[in-house]
Amino acid sequence: MKHYVALPVLLLSILSFSSHINAFTYMTCNGKPITQFIPWHASEIELRISDANFPVLSDADLAIKRAIIEINEMGGTSLKFKVERTSDGGEWGDLKNDLILGRWIGQYYDPDALATIMLDYSNTCSSPYIYEADIVFSSGHWDNFEFGKFSYENMADFGWDGPHSFEGIALHELGHLVGLEHTTTTLDTMLPDAPGGGPLGKDKRWIPLPDMARGIRFLYPGGSKKSGVEASAFQFVSTFGEVSSEILTLPVQVKRGNTLRFSYTFAITGTEKETFNIFFYLSKDDKITTSDILVGSNTGAWGNPGSVGTYTRTISVPNWINTGDYFLGYIIDKNNNGQIDGSSVAIATPTKIY
Ligand SMILES: [Zn+2]
Repeated sequence: MKHYVALPVLLLSILSFSSHINAFTYMTCNGKPITQFIPWHASEIELRISDANFPVLSDADLAIKRAIIEINEMGGTSLKFKVERTSDGGEWGDLKNDLILGRWIGQYYDPDALATIMLDYSNTCSSPYIYEADIVFSSGHWDNFEFGKFSYENMADFGWDGPHSFEGIALHELGHLVGLEHTTTTLDTMLPDAPGGGPLGKDKRWIPLPDMARGIRFLYPGGSKKSGVEASAFQFVSTFGEVSSEILTLPVQVKRGNTLRFSYTFAITGTEKETFNIFFYLSKDDKITTSDILVGSNTGAWGNPGSVGTYTRTISVPNWINTGDYFLGYIIDKNNNGQIDGSSVAIATPTKIY
């Protein structure tokens, strides 16, 4: 017997604050994980990208492939995807994992959601394997998808108009494809509302956040160790029992010589405990470098694999600084050796210093 489920990605609802710990959840059959059956796939899980919907080297094709590469390179897992193409439209029931643009394929999908995954799996609990998983991106939201670097600017007006990162949605759906379910607790890739826990670092890479990374490493153990600590410009939010994420913000203005209180976030994406230093800067632009104005540091920070947290910090604004709009950002000294060249990020909204 087979079952299928349809899991739509919902839209963001905006809310308040909290931090730490993460969890992952996965599909089960009598408590046993339901997973892709690797031997069927000759050790790599085949994903067939639709030629008609996402032509080779189109923006959408490249976004999907970036999400796949982030998973393939995350370490600590035997899971590997192999990219293939399909020109047959990716029909439901062909026992292939297809990535297509929304249309009726013989099964239900939710056109209102940004994307839906349909999973077909055996409910014979001695071998509960996924036969087929088709990811259907919503054609109705095509104009709301963002294919390049995710922009924070319009997040306040999110709702139906986006922008919604196509790559972020692809990463989330790939989590479902390997058996993960939604989370409800913290800055997660598998939060049901787009954009989940958001991208990481100044390049806004959609790296699997600790929930997804831990879940995949649990379901598909193996692989090699990998170090990873990343700065995030997002924070966890919760209101009325609804959880999601939003960008970190700064006070609208602050006077020179006064203190500035803000929140910052980092995630341990690798397989190892990390010890590192964090340096905080004020900058006239949103590219944070060691040439910017150093306003504080946090030495001896650490985190266990799978942890993600938002913390608060207060700095003094130098009274000699020129007035004007400033971004506040942080850089991680990943190897704790004074070379401040790790992941960096700027809080998206600047503050006016007067
Ligand atoms: Zn989902």
